[in-house]
Amino acid sequence: MNTFMKNAVLAVVATASLMLLGNAAQADAKNPKIGFSIDDLRLERWARDRDFFTAAAEKLGAKVYVQSADASEQRQISQIENLISRGVDAIVIVPFNATVLTNAVKEAKKAGIKVLSYDRLILNADVDGYISFDNEKVGEMQAAGVVKIRPKGNYYLLGGSPTDNNAKMLREGQMKILKPLIDKGDIKVVGQQWVRDWNPTEALSIIENALTANGNKIDAIVASNDGTAGGAIQALAAQKLAGKVPVSGQDADLAAVKRVIAGTQAMTVYKPLKLIASQAAKLAVDMVRKHKPGFNSTYDNGFKKVDTLLLKPTALTRGNVNLLVQDGFYSKAQIGE
Ligand code: BGC
Repeated sequence: MNTFMKNAVLAVVATASLMLLGNAAQADAKNPKIGFSIDDLRLERWARDRDFFTAAAEKLGAKVYVQSADASEQRQISQIENLISRGVDAIVIVPFNATVLTNAVKEAKKAGIKVLSYDRLILNADVDGYISFDNEKVGEMQAAGVVKIRPKGNYYLLGGSPTDNNAKMLREGQMKILKPLIDKGDIKVVGQQWVRDWNPTEALSIIENALTANGNKIDAIVASNDGTAGGAIQALAAQKLAGKVPVSGQDADLAAVKRVIAGTQAMTVYKPLKLIASQAAKLAVDMVRKHKPGFNSTYDNGFKKVDTLLLKPTALTRGNVNLLVQDGFYSKAQIGE
């Protein structure tokens, strides 16, 4: 081959690859590339979400690229930018900070990428869909679970991360149950605080301080997830109050389920992660393939009414933890039942 021919061949190859790149969106409908940008993989539940999601998406013919921002909004933004430049077809996002992704989502949409908000709603952004468990309902279950054991007394409200929209929805649900009892004078809220990054150690020191400030006179703690409940219960244990002060949670983390069985945590909320992960994988793939995704609700995120798929949570106490084994969430050996 002479130089001229070589150049001609190279030019053809280059043009063909450019055409391939240009057609990526269509070609990938068969084997979509999906980015999964997760706030924080260091937490037990999110690692399970990742595994279930990846398995379900791969079954549908997709390839998944996972990123963990480890509770850094800057890292999450650059990881999303990285997924965009990799040419993915859809990005599924568990936002660390609900309010800072407007531009990143705009960039993705400009590149023709579908965006699905996973578990936590991204605010003020043009997302294509949202999937979650009914967070307000979870909040109601948390408050109701604690009220059932301690209908009167001094309550401490331990909220989730202030950057997570779920934290606010949970609080709204909790207040639906608590407000009438507060108005009646049965319940007195002696303190409340949001826990930065949902950090259990932060929850521990908040409750240590609250116990000191109230001379240990705290009768119940409405905690918004199992991680922070664990911190709260550690603070109670140091005052020999674990098991005496009901504490709520959510996620059915293994340690929390063991506490529920032992009686140091009043309840948790079971959210079948395999269900949300596999439904999310299906939504993302359907969006890329331009099939109509199955939503059942909408949420206003400040930019638009976002099509939403809301799933049902289940309250768990000592009486029904076995559901976790029946559902295959844990083995009998794991929870020691
Ligand atoms: C999720 C909870 C989780 C928490 C901390 C919330 O947005 O809904 O399941 O425990 O974040 O990661």
